[in-house]
Amino acid sequence: MQYFDVVVIGAGAAGMMCALEAGKRGRSVLILDHARAPGEKIRISGGGRCNFTNIHASPKNFLSQNPHFCISALSRYTQRHFIALVERHGVAYHEKTLGQLFCDGSARQIIDMLVEEMQESGVELRLSTVVEDVRKTAGGFELALSGGRVGCSSLVVACGGKSIPKMGATGLGYELAAQFGLPVVETRPALVPLTFDANTLVKLAPLSGIAVDADVGCGKTSFSEAMLFTHRGISGPSILQISSYWREGDEIAISMLPGTDVAGLLREAKRANGRQAVQTVLAAHLPKKLAQAIAERTGLDGNLADLNDAQIKTVDAAVNAWRIKPAGSEGYRTAEVTLGGVDTNALDQKTMQVKSVPGLYFIGEVVDVTGWLGGYNFQWAWSSGWAAGQAA
Ligand SMILES: Cc1cc2nc3c(=O)[nH]c(=O)nc-3n(C[C@H](O)[C@H](O)[C@H](O)COP(=O)(O)OP(=O)(O)OC[C@H]3O[C@@H](n4cnc5c(N)ncnc54)[C@H](O)[C@@H]3O)c2cc1C
Repeated sequence: MQYFDVVVIGAGAAGMMCALEAGKRGRSVLILDHARAPGEKIRISGGGRCNFTNIHASPKNFLSQNPHFCISALSRYTQRHFIALVERHGVAYHEKTLGQLFCDGSARQIIDMLVEEMQESGVELRLSTVVEDVRKTAGGFELALSGGRVGCSSLVVACGGKSIPKMGATGLGYELAAQFGLPVVETRPALVPLTFDANTLVKLAPLSGIAVDADVGCGKTSFSEAMLFTHRGISGPSILQISSYWREGDEIAISMLPGTDVAGLLREAKRANGRQAVQTVLAAHLPKKLAQAIAERTGLDGNLADLNDAQIKTVDAAVNAWRIKPAGSEGYRTAEVTLGGVDTNALDQKTMQVKSVPGLYFIGEVVDVTGWLGGYNFQWAWSSGWAAGQAA
Protein backbone atom coordinates (compact mmCIF):
# COMPACT_ATOMS: atom_id res chain seq x y z
CA MET A 1 0.00 0.00 0.00
CA GLN A 2 1.28 3.45 -0.93
CA TYR A 3 1.52 5.91 1.92
CA PHE A 4 1.19 9.73 1.80
CA ASP A 5 1.28 12.35 4.53
CA VAL A 6 -1.82 13.95 3.01
CA VAL A 7 -4.55 12.71 0.69
CA VAL A 8 -6.95 15.32 -0.72
CA ILE A 9 -10.24 14.09 -2.22
CA GLY A 10 -11.34 16.51 -4.96
CA ALA A 11 -9.06 18.41 -7.35
CA GLY A 12 -11.27 21.50 -7.44
CA ALA A 13 -10.44 25.01 -6.28
CA ALA A 14 -10.16 24.28 -2.55
CA GLY A 15 -8.46 20.89 -2.94
CA MET A 16 -5.73 22.15 -5.28
CA MET A 17 -4.98 25.15 -3.05
CA CYS A 18 -4.71 22.87 -0.01
CA ALA A 19 -2.54 20.32 -1.83
CA LEU A 20 -0.02 22.87 -3.12
CA GLU A 21 0.28 24.51 0.28
CA ALA A 22 0.78 21.18 2.08
CA GLY A 23 3.32 20.22 -0.61
CA LYS A 24 5.25 23.46 -0.02
CA ARG A 25 5.62 22.43 3.63
CA GLY A 26 7.39 19.27 2.47
CA ARG A 27 4.44 16.95 3.03
CA SER A 28 3.97 14.11 0.54
CA VAL A 29 0.58 14.80 -1.02
CA LEU A 30 -1.79 12.85 -3.25
CA ILE A 31 -4.77 14.71 -4.71
CA LEU A 32 -7.36 12.62 -6.48
CA ASP A 33 -10.51 13.22 -8.46
CA HIS A 34 -13.03 11.03 -10.22
CA ALA A 35 -13.16 13.52 -13.11
CA ARG A 36 -10.83 13.29 -16.10
CA ALA A 37 -9.51 16.83 -15.57
CA PRO A 38 -8.84 18.98 -12.51
CA GLY A 39 -10.81 22.16 -11.77
CA GLU A 40 -13.77 21.55 -14.05
CA LYS A 41 -15.90 24.14 -12.23
CA ILE A 42 -13.10 26.67 -12.49
CA ARG A 43 -13.06 26.03 -16.24
CA ILE A 44 -16.75 26.90 -16.71
CA SER A 45 -16.85 29.65 -14.08
CA GLY A 46 -17.46 33.29 -14.83
CA GLY A 47 -18.58 32.51 -18.37
CA GLY A 48 -15.18 30.85 -19.05
CA ARG A 49 -13.16 33.75 -17.59
CA CYS A 50 -13.35 32.75 -13.87
CA ASN A 51 -14.37 35.49 -11.47
CA PHE A 52 -11.55 34.28 -9.20
CA THR A 53 -12.01 36.69 -6.29
CA ASN A 54 -13.54 39.98 -5.22
CA ILE A 55 -11.47 42.93 -4.04
CA HIS A 56 -14.13 43.73 -1.42
CA ALA A 57 -14.38 40.19 0.02
CA SER A 58 -15.07 40.20 3.75
CA PRO A 59 -16.95 37.89 6.12
CA LYS A 60 -20.17 39.87 5.60
CA ASN A 61 -20.38 38.46 2.07
CA PHE A 62 -20.88 34.90 3.33
CA LEU A 63 -23.85 32.93 4.65
CA SER A 64 -23.41 30.32 7.37
CA GLN A 65 -25.19 29.21 10.52
CA ASN A 66 -22.07 30.51 12.25
CA PRO A 67 -21.15 33.75 10.46
CA HIS A 68 -17.94 34.09 12.51
CA PHE A 69 -16.45 30.78 11.37
CA CYS A 70 -15.05 32.07 8.08
CA ILE A 71 -13.27 35.10 9.60
CA SER A 72 -10.02 33.34 10.50
CA ALA A 73 -9.33 31.74 7.11
CA LEU A 74 -10.51 34.77 5.11
CA SER A 75 -8.29 37.11 7.09
CA ARG A 76 -5.17 34.92 6.92
CA TYR A 77 -5.41 34.16 3.20
CA THR A 78 -7.07 37.17 1.63
CA GLN A 79 -8.01 38.22 -1.89
CA ARG A 80 -4.73 40.17 -1.95
CA HIS A 81 -2.77 36.93 -1.48
CA PHE A 82 -4.59 35.26 -4.37
CA ILE A 83 -4.20 38.33 -6.59
CA ALA A 84 -0.44 38.25 -5.85
CA LEU A 85 -0.34 34.58 -6.91
CA VAL A 86 -2.20 35.36 -10.13
CA GLU A 87 0.18 38.25 -10.85
CA ARG A 88 3.25 36.08 -10.17
CA HIS A 89 1.99 33.74 -12.89
CA GLY A 90 1.47 36.62 -15.30
CA VAL A 91 -2.29 36.02 -15.60
CA ALA A 92 -3.85 39.25 -16.87
CA TYR A 93 -7.12 40.24 -15.23
CA HIS A 94 -9.62 43.06 -14.96
CA GLU A 95 -12.33 44.30 -12.63
CA LYS A 96 -15.69 43.82 -14.31
CA THR A 97 -18.05 45.37 -11.76
CA LEU A 98 -18.52 45.59 -7.98
CA GLY A 99 -14.94 44.46 -7.28
CA GLN A 100 -15.28 41.24 -9.31
CA LEU A 101 -11.94 40.15 -10.81
CA PHE A 102 -11.95 38.09 -14.02
CA CYS A 103 -9.16 36.69 -16.22
CA ASP A 104 -8.68 38.71 -19.40
CA GLY A 105 -8.04 35.46 -21.24
CA SER A 106 -9.43 32.16 -20.02
CA ALA A 107 -10.34 30.40 -16.76
CA ARG A 108 -7.93 27.67 -17.86
CA GLN A 109 -5.09 30.00 -16.84
CA ILE A 110 -6.20 29.66 -13.21
CA ILE A 111 -6.30 25.85 -13.50
CA ASP A 112 -2.86 25.80 -15.19
CA MET A 113 -1.49 28.06 -12.46
CA LEU A 114 -2.72 25.75 -9.68
CA VAL A 115 -1.52 22.60 -11.47
CA GLU A 116 1.91 24.18 -12.02
CA GLU A 117 2.11 25.18 -8.36
CA MET A 118 1.17 21.63 -7.34
CA GLN A 119 3.85 20.18 -9.62
CA GLU A 120 6.46 22.53 -8.16
CA SER A 121 5.62 21.39 -4.65
CA GLY A 122 5.75 17.71 -5.62
CA VAL A 123 2.03 16.92 -5.35
CA GLU A 124 0.82 13.78 -7.14
CA LEU A 125 -2.42 14.34 -9.10
CA ARG A 126 -4.48 11.22 -9.85
CA LEU A 127 -7.52 11.65 -12.09
CA SER A 128 -10.35 9.26 -13.06
CA THR A 129 -10.02 7.76 -9.61
CA VAL A 130 -13.04 6.52 -7.69
CA VAL A 131 -13.07 6.46 -3.88
CA GLU A 132 -14.61 3.11 -2.93
CA ASP A 133 -14.09 3.19 0.81
CA VAL A 134 -12.54 5.34 3.55
CA ARG A 135 -11.54 3.87 6.89
CA LYS A 136 -9.99 5.32 10.05
CA THR A 137 -6.89 3.50 11.20
CA ALA A 138 -4.74 3.88 14.31
CA GLY A 139 -2.26 6.17 12.53
CA GLY A 140 -4.60 7.95 10.12
CA PHE A 141 -6.79 6.77 7.25
CA GLU A 142 -6.90 4.05 4.63
CA LEU A 143 -8.65 4.57 1.30
CA ALA A 144 -9.75 1.93 -1.19
CA LEU A 145 -9.45 3.58 -4.59
CA SER A 146 -10.26 2.27 -8.06
CA GLY A 147 -6.47 2.05 -8.60
CA GLY A 148 -5.54 0.35 -5.31
CA ARG A 149 -5.23 1.18 -1.62
CA VAL A 150 -3.52 4.22 -0.13
CA GLY A 151 -2.85 5.28 3.43
CA CYS A 152 -2.37 8.77 4.89
CA SER A 153 -2.08 10.58 8.19
CA SER A 154 -4.22 13.55 7.05
CA LEU A 155 -7.30 13.25 4.90
CA VAL A 156 -8.79 16.40 3.34
CA VAL A 157 -12.32 16.25 1.98
CA ALA A 158 -12.65 18.85 -0.80
CA CYS A 159 -15.26 17.29 -3.05
CA GLY A 160 -17.53 20.31 -3.30
CA GLY A 161 -21.30 20.62 -3.05
CA LYS A 162 -24.27 19.21 -4.96
CA SER A 163 -24.62 21.86 -7.63
CA ILE A 164 -24.45 20.88 -11.31
CA PRO A 165 -24.25 17.06 -11.02
CA LYS A 166 -23.39 16.99 -14.73
CA MET A 167 -20.07 18.64 -13.84
CA GLY A 168 -19.13 15.79 -11.47
CA ALA A 169 -20.77 16.86 -8.20
CA THR A 170 -21.49 13.92 -5.90
CA GLY A 171 -22.63 13.61 -2.31
CA LEU A 172 -19.35 12.02 -1.18
CA GLY A 173 -18.43 14.89 1.15
CA TYR A 174 -21.75 14.63 2.98
CA GLU A 175 -21.50 10.81 3.09
CA LEU A 176 -18.06 11.06 4.70
CA ALA A 177 -19.41 13.62 7.17
CA ALA A 178 -22.16 11.15 8.10
CA GLN A 179 -19.66 8.28 8.35
CA PHE A 180 -17.63 10.25 10.89
CA GLY A 181 -20.72 11.38 12.82
CA LEU A 182 -20.56 15.06 11.82
CA PRO A 183 -23.71 17.17 11.70
CA VAL A 184 -24.63 18.64 8.30
CA VAL A 185 -26.66 21.85 8.01
CA GLU A 186 -29.53 21.22 5.60
CA THR A 187 -28.38 21.80 2.02
CA ARG A 188 -30.28 23.70 -0.68
CA PRO A 189 -29.50 25.13 -4.12
CA ALA A 190 -28.26 28.74 -4.00
CA LEU A 191 -27.25 31.39 -6.53
CA VAL A 192 -30.02 29.88 -8.64
CA PRO A 193 -32.77 31.28 -10.91
CA LEU A 194 -36.25 31.40 -9.35
CA THR A 195 -39.31 29.97 -11.10
CA PHE A 196 -42.97 31.02 -11.34
CA ASP A 197 -46.16 28.95 -11.33
CA ALA A 198 -47.90 28.20 -14.63
CA ASN A 199 -50.46 31.04 -14.31
CA THR A 200 -47.84 33.71 -13.67
CA LEU A 201 -45.65 32.31 -16.44
CA VAL A 202 -48.42 32.68 -19.01
CA LYS A 203 -48.71 36.38 -18.10
CA LEU A 204 -44.99 37.03 -18.03
CA ALA A 205 -43.94 34.84 -20.99
CA PRO A 206 -43.75 37.80 -23.43
CA LEU A 207 -41.11 39.39 -21.18
CA SER A 208 -38.65 36.51 -21.52
CA GLY A 209 -35.22 37.91 -22.39
CA ILE A 210 -35.85 41.39 -20.97
CA ALA A 211 -33.33 42.70 -18.42
CA VAL A 212 -33.56 45.68 -16.06
CA ASP A 213 -31.39 47.04 -13.27
CA ALA A 214 -33.43 46.31 -10.15
CA ASP A 215 -33.43 46.35 -6.38
CA VAL A 216 -34.52 42.90 -5.25
CA GLY A 217 -35.27 42.19 -1.60
CA CYS A 218 -36.33 39.29 0.59
CA GLY A 219 -36.85 39.96 4.29
CA LYS A 220 -34.16 42.37 5.43
CA THR A 221 -31.72 41.61 2.60
CA SER A 222 -31.64 43.29 -0.79
CA PHE A 223 -29.35 43.50 -3.82
CA SER A 224 -29.11 46.10 -6.58
CA GLU A 225 -28.03 44.42 -9.78
CA ALA A 226 -29.49 43.33 -13.10
CA MET A 227 -32.61 41.14 -13.25
CA LEU A 228 -33.64 39.03 -16.23
CA PHE A 229 -37.05 37.61 -17.15
CA THR A 230 -36.69 34.03 -18.40
CA HIS A 231 -39.10 31.47 -19.84
CA ARG A 232 -39.18 29.77 -16.42
CA GLY A 233 -39.23 32.82 -14.12
CA ILE A 234 -36.55 35.33 -13.19
CA SER A 235 -32.76 35.26 -13.13
CA GLY A 236 -29.82 37.65 -13.40
CA PRO A 237 -27.34 38.64 -10.68
CA SER A 238 -29.84 40.29 -8.29
CA ILE A 239 -32.11 37.22 -8.38
CA LEU A 240 -29.23 34.74 -7.98
CA GLN A 241 -28.07 36.76 -4.96
CA ILE A 242 -31.49 36.88 -3.31
CA SER A 243 -32.09 33.15 -3.99
CA SER A 244 -29.59 32.37 -1.21
CA TYR A 245 -31.90 34.15 1.26
CA TRP A 246 -35.27 33.12 -0.23
CA ARG A 247 -37.27 30.21 1.18
CA GLU A 248 -40.37 28.48 -0.25
CA GLY A 249 -43.44 30.61 0.51
CA ASP A 250 -41.48 33.88 0.82
CA GLU A 251 -42.37 36.88 -1.30
CA ILE A 252 -39.66 38.91 -2.96
CA ALA A 253 -39.96 42.66 -3.45
CA ILE A 254 -38.72 44.11 -6.73
CA SER A 255 -38.10 47.71 -7.66
CA MET A 256 -37.55 48.06 -11.40
CA LEU A 257 -36.76 51.80 -11.35
CA PRO A 258 -34.95 52.12 -8.02
CA GLY A 259 -34.51 55.71 -6.89
CA THR A 260 -37.08 57.02 -9.38
CA ASP A 261 -40.29 58.67 -8.15
CA VAL A 262 -42.60 57.00 -10.69
CA ALA A 263 -45.75 58.65 -9.26
CA GLY A 264 -44.03 62.05 -9.61
CA LEU A 265 -43.09 61.25 -13.22
CA LEU A 266 -46.65 60.26 -14.07
CA ARG A 267 -48.16 63.35 -12.40
CA GLU A 268 -45.79 65.59 -14.32
CA ALA A 269 -46.53 63.80 -17.61
CA LYS A 270 -50.27 64.09 -16.91
CA ARG A 271 -49.92 67.85 -16.42
CA ALA A 272 -47.88 68.18 -19.61
CA ASN A 273 -50.08 66.00 -21.82
CA GLY A 274 -52.97 64.04 -20.33
CA ARG A 275 -53.59 62.18 -23.58
CA GLN A 276 -50.45 60.06 -23.19
CA ALA A 277 -50.89 56.44 -22.15
CA VAL A 278 -49.28 55.18 -18.92
CA GLN A 279 -47.14 52.72 -20.87
CA THR A 280 -45.80 55.51 -23.09
CA VAL A 281 -44.46 57.37 -20.06
CA LEU A 282 -43.04 54.20 -18.50
CA ALA A 283 -41.42 53.18 -21.81
CA ALA A 284 -39.16 56.22 -21.60
CA HIS A 285 -37.53 54.54 -18.57
CA LEU A 286 -38.17 50.80 -19.01
CA PRO A 287 -38.12 48.36 -21.95
CA LYS A 288 -41.28 48.91 -24.01
CA LYS A 289 -42.70 45.39 -23.51
CA LEU A 290 -42.22 45.64 -19.77
CA ALA A 291 -43.89 49.07 -19.65
CA GLN A 292 -46.84 47.61 -21.56
CA ALA A 293 -47.07 44.58 -19.26
CA ILE A 294 -47.04 46.75 -16.12
CA ALA A 295 -49.81 48.98 -17.46
CA GLU A 296 -51.89 45.93 -18.42
CA ARG A 297 -51.26 44.18 -15.09
CA THR A 298 -52.60 47.18 -13.18
CA GLY A 299 -55.54 47.50 -15.59
CA LEU A 300 -54.53 51.15 -16.01
CA ASP A 301 -53.39 51.17 -19.62
CA GLY A 302 -55.55 54.13 -20.62
CA ASN A 303 -54.75 57.84 -20.82
CA LEU A 304 -53.06 59.63 -17.94
CA ALA A 305 -55.89 62.18 -17.85
CA ASP A 306 -58.25 59.41 -16.70
CA LEU A 307 -56.07 58.40 -13.70
CA ASN A 308 -56.69 59.71 -10.21
CA ASP A 309 -53.88 59.98 -7.69
CA ALA A 310 -54.62 56.58 -6.09
CA GLN A 311 -54.34 54.95 -9.50
CA ILE A 312 -51.06 56.76 -10.18
CA LYS A 313 -49.77 55.35 -6.90
CA THR A 314 -50.91 51.87 -7.99
CA VAL A 315 -48.74 52.13 -11.11
CA ASP A 316 -45.85 53.43 -8.99
CA ALA A 317 -46.18 50.38 -6.71
CA ALA A 318 -46.35 48.01 -9.70
CA VAL A 319 -42.98 49.38 -10.88
CA ASN A 320 -41.17 49.94 -7.61
CA ALA A 321 -42.85 47.67 -5.08
CA TRP A 322 -43.73 44.59 -7.12
CA ARG A 323 -44.22 41.73 -4.68
CA ILE A 324 -44.14 38.23 -6.13
CA LYS A 325 -44.02 34.74 -4.64
CA PRO A 326 -41.73 32.48 -6.70
CA ALA A 327 -42.95 28.90 -6.92
CA GLY A 328 -39.47 27.42 -6.57
CA SER A 329 -35.99 27.46 -8.00
CA GLU A 330 -34.29 25.73 -10.91
CA GLY A 331 -32.55 23.48 -8.37
CA TYR A 332 -29.08 21.94 -8.35
CA ARG A 333 -29.21 21.54 -12.15
CA THR A 334 -28.28 25.21 -12.56
CA ALA A 335 -27.41 26.40 -9.02
CA GLU A 336 -23.91 27.86 -8.81
CA VAL A 337 -23.45 26.74 -5.22
CA THR A 338 -24.87 24.66 -2.39
CA LEU A 339 -26.05 26.43 0.73
CA GLY A 340 -25.50 24.56 4.02
CA GLY A 341 -23.10 21.66 4.40
CA VAL A 342 -20.79 20.31 7.08
CA ASP A 343 -21.69 22.12 10.30
CA THR A 344 -18.87 24.52 11.17
CA ASN A 345 -19.33 23.74 14.87
CA ALA A 346 -17.65 20.40 14.13
CA LEU A 347 -14.57 22.10 12.61
CA ASP A 348 -11.64 24.10 13.94
CA GLN A 349 -11.89 27.54 12.28
CA LYS A 350 -8.13 27.97 12.02
CA THR A 351 -7.30 24.66 10.36
CA MET A 352 -10.63 23.24 9.11
CA GLN A 353 -9.78 20.06 11.05
CA VAL A 354 -12.66 18.02 12.46
CA LYS A 355 -12.54 18.56 16.22
CA SER A 356 -13.57 14.98 17.02
CA VAL A 357 -11.42 13.25 14.35
CA PRO A 358 -7.80 14.45 14.34
CA GLY A 359 -6.31 14.33 10.84
CA LEU A 360 -9.64 14.77 9.02
CA TYR A 361 -10.35 18.11 7.28
CA PHE A 362 -13.27 19.56 5.31
CA ILE A 363 -12.75 22.59 3.01
CA GLY A 364 -14.50 24.58 0.30
CA GLU A 365 -18.12 24.33 -0.72
CA VAL A 366 -18.85 21.13 1.23
CA VAL A 367 -18.62 23.24 4.42
CA ASP A 368 -21.55 25.38 5.60
CA VAL A 369 -20.01 28.62 4.30
CA THR A 370 -21.55 30.08 1.11
CA GLY A 371 -20.50 33.28 -0.61
CA TRP A 372 -22.45 35.86 -2.54
CA LEU A 373 -22.20 35.94 -6.30
CA GLY A 374 -19.10 37.80 -7.46
CA GLY A 375 -15.93 35.80 -6.78
CA TYR A 376 -16.64 35.21 -3.10
CA ASN A 377 -17.10 31.45 -3.40
CA PHE A 378 -13.69 30.97 -4.97
CA GLN A 379 -12.18 33.18 -2.28
CA TRP A 380 -13.65 30.84 0.34
CA ALA A 381 -12.20 27.86 -1.57
CA TRP A 382 -8.74 29.51 -1.66
CA SER A 383 -8.85 30.66 1.98
CA SER A 384 -10.18 27.43 3.49
CA GLY A 385 -7.86 25.36 1.26
CA TRP A 386 -4.89 27.46 2.31
CA ALA A 387 -5.82 27.16 6.01
CA ALA A 388 -5.99 23.35 5.84
CA GLY A 389 -2.79 23.30 3.75
CA GLN A 390 -0.87 24.86 6.67
CA ALA A 391 -1.98 22.12 9.06
CA ALA A 392 -2.71 18.85 7.22
C1 LIG B 1 -21.53 27.51 -13.57
C2 LIG B 1 -20.79 27.95 -12.36
C3 LIG B 1 -20.08 29.15 -12.39
C4 LIG B 1 -19.42 29.61 -11.25
N1 LIG B 1 -18.72 30.77 -11.33
C5 LIG B 1 -18.08 31.22 -10.22
C6 LIG B 1 -17.29 32.40 -10.29
O1 LIG B 1 -17.09 32.98 -11.36
N2 LIG B 1 -16.72 32.85 -9.13
C7 LIG B 1 -16.88 32.18 -7.93
O2 LIG B 1 -16.35 32.63 -6.91
N3 LIG B 1 -17.57 31.02 -7.87
C8 LIG B 1 -18.16 30.53 -8.98
N4 LIG B 1 -18.85 29.36 -8.90
C9 LIG B 1 -18.83 28.60 -7.64
C10 LIG B 1 -17.48 27.86 -7.53
O3 LIG B 1 -17.27 27.11 -8.72
C11 LIG B 1 -17.48 26.91 -6.32
O4 LIG B 1 -17.84 27.62 -5.17
C12 LIG B 1 -16.10 26.31 -6.14
O5 LIG B 1 -15.73 25.58 -7.29
C13 LIG B 1 -16.06 25.39 -4.93
O6 LIG B 1 -14.79 24.83 -4.84
P1 LIG B 1 -14.57 23.39 -4.20
O7 LIG B 1 -13.15 23.06 -4.44
O8 LIG B 1 -15.11 23.34 -2.83
O9 LIG B 1 -15.49 22.43 -5.07
P2 LIG B 1 -15.37 22.06 -6.62
O10 LIG B 1 -14.66 23.12 -7.36
O11 LIG B 1 -16.74 21.67 -7.04
O12 LIG B 1 -14.41 20.79 -6.63
C14 LIG B 1 -14.81 19.54 -6.12
C15 LIG B 1 -14.02 18.47 -6.86
O13 LIG B 1 -14.33 17.21 -6.23
C16 LIG B 1 -14.54 16.25 -7.24
N5 LIG B 1 -15.39 15.20 -6.71
C17 LIG B 1 -16.71 15.29 -6.39
N6 LIG B 1 -17.14 14.11 -5.95
C18 LIG B 1 -16.08 13.24 -5.99
C19 LIG B 1 -15.93 11.88 -5.70
N7 LIG B 1 -16.97 11.14 -5.27
N8 LIG B 1 -14.71 11.31 -5.87
C20 LIG B 1 -13.66 12.06 -6.33
N9 LIG B 1 -13.75 13.35 -6.65
C21 LIG B 1 -14.97 13.94 -6.47
C22 LIG B 1 -15.17 17.02 -8.40
O14 LIG B 1 -14.97 16.34 -9.61
C23 LIG B 1 -14.43 18.34 -8.31
O15 LIG B 1 -13.27 18.36 -9.12
C24 LIG B 1 -19.49 28.85 -10.03
C25 LIG B 1 -20.18 27.65 -10.02
C26 LIG B 1 -20.82 27.20 -11.16
C27 LIG B 1 -21.54 25.89 -11.09
